[in-house]
Amino acid sequence: MTIGVACQRMLIRSDPLLRLEARALFECASDVFRHSEKSLFNDRDQMSKTRKPLSALVIGSGLIGVASAYFLRKRGFTVTVVDRQAAPGLETSFANGSLQTPSMAEPWNTPGCWRTLLRSIGRQDSAMQLRLRALPGLARWGIDFLRNSAPEIYRNSIQSNLRLALFSQSVMSELQRDTRIEYGRSAVGSLRVFRDSESFRRARAAAASLAGAGLRFRVLPSEKAVEFEPALQPIRSELAGAIHYGSDETGNAYKFCASLADRAMKDGVEFRFGSTVSVLELSADRIEAVVVGGERLIADRYVVAAGSHSRRLLKTVGLDLPVQPVKGYSITFDKSANPSRLRIPIVDDDLHAAIVPLEGMMRVAGTAEFAGHDLTLRPARIANLNDLLRRVLPDTKFDPSKAIPWCGLRPVSVDGVPVIGPTPISNLFVNTGHGHLGWTLAAGSGELLANLVARIASPIATAPFEFARFAATRSTTATYT
Ligand SMILES: Cc1cc2nc3c(=O)[nH]c(=O)nc-3n(C[C@H](O)[C@H](O)[C@H](O)COP(=O)(O)OP(=O)(O)OC[C@H]3O[C@@H](n4cnc5c(N)ncnc54)[C@H](O)[C@@H]3O)c2cc1C
Repeated sequence: MTIGVACQRMLIRSDPLLRLEARALFECASDVFRHSEKSLFNDRDQMSKTRKPLSALVIGSGLIGVASAYFLRKRGFTVTVVDRQAAPGLETSFANGSLQTPSMAEPWNTPGCWRTLLRSIGRQDSAMQLRLRALPGLARWGIDFLRNSAPEIYRNSIQSNLRLALFSQSVMSELQRDTRIEYGRSAVGSLRVFRDSESFRRARAAAASLAGAGLRFRVLPSEKAVEFEPALQPIRSELAGAIHYGSDETGNAYKFCASLADRAMKDGVEFRFGSTVSVLELSADRIEAVVVGGERLIADRYVVAAGSHSRRLLKTVGLDLPVQPVKGYSITFDKSANPSRLRIPIVDDDLHAAIVPLEGMMRVAGTAEFAGHDLTLRPARIANLNDLLRRVLPDTKFDPSKAIPWCGLRPVSVDGVPVIGPTPISNLFVNTGHGHLGWTLAAGSGELLANLVARIASPIATAPFEFARFAATRSTTATYT
């Protein structure tokens, strides 16, 4: 056992004295410090000098901010979470698709995705949509998004996301054992159905290539798919086949987020709601404070987990985080309006959307719209989701007027892989860019982030998620708008 691993085990134990001792010892174990040459680690550790716990301030109380805060607290930090909303999880983490899907580790910039995007301009019914109005704000990000669709980068991105997704599942199991949080978890997997034989062939090959990395799946001809999920009987003749992904799970992300925040609060994390951070104050190479209204909030470490707004915040200190909002919609039929007996979540590959049974409710989620930070609920997009539901479950009578519509902004990075860890500013960290996988990756990302802030080695490599992977990360400062 290396000193690093021994220290890690001691640090995870709850005895604060043991933790301090372990930290001092850990300082010596340079073999496990990936970043030992960086300014972050040249910065003398205040905790070992003063024997006082370090403080961390997390901006954002969505899934990612709350998971970060929970694990930072577990690592011994004094933690404050700041959010502009009145409660946790009220933005993108609110009514998402509810799927935890290692099976969807692939980023959206698939090789050749530019054709799909160009075809979408002006169309209301396409799953991926580019609004002309959003183009100027997307210029550089858009070019990098397409550049990152090169096959080799794309393959590496899938591997990184899959590793984090599977790690996240193990973190989630431990977290559930520790906290007993109830969030409507279901582990029946998901069923991806294909109407086109070429897409089905490609998906089988893609799944087979990931089996070695831990993806569990089973290919089903259409008759077996219908046996597996009888609700698909009416569209059996339209199906080319299906894949059952046994690694996938479902759960109510909002319920989890709110319950974990509650638990973190009981563990001593302070939450300050209704507080919008307008500026990060930079002095030399450190953040001195964050400004909320007229107040300056001071901490030893700062974590930006503000979802698709993270980029704007980082701009105030001259950092260029290549993450853009991509809008998605969901509709939810509550228990009284859900006549379906769907057993397992269905992902329709051609229609690019998911239909998910969730604690007696039914949620349909999908669509990707490049439209800036616009949160207008467009009737045509909601009609699309209702239409999709009819095309997958034609015999089930859903009343569209009972559908509860919602939209949110996925924080999408240029390579489709989240950004977790240190920034070029010594005491500033980020945890964002999770795109369509924020619920899938939340627990693992929270733990990785906390380990990086606490300088503890992690069970999976953190290099693929580094901010430093983006060549140009510094730009001029801008005001937060
Ligand atoms: C339609 C749709 C379906 C989806 N389905 C799935 C799915 O099935 N599975 C999956 O894994 N993922 C899914 N996702 C993605 C997932 O929901 C997101 O990746 C995840 O919610 C992002 O979490 P977050 O904490 O980064 O952001 P958010 O939840 O948006 O949290 C950011 C927080 O930061 C706060 N904030 C922002 N700016 C400031 C500021 N200046 N000051 C103070 N606070 C600030 C906000 O108020 C917010 O609470 C879906 C997304 C959408 C839109």
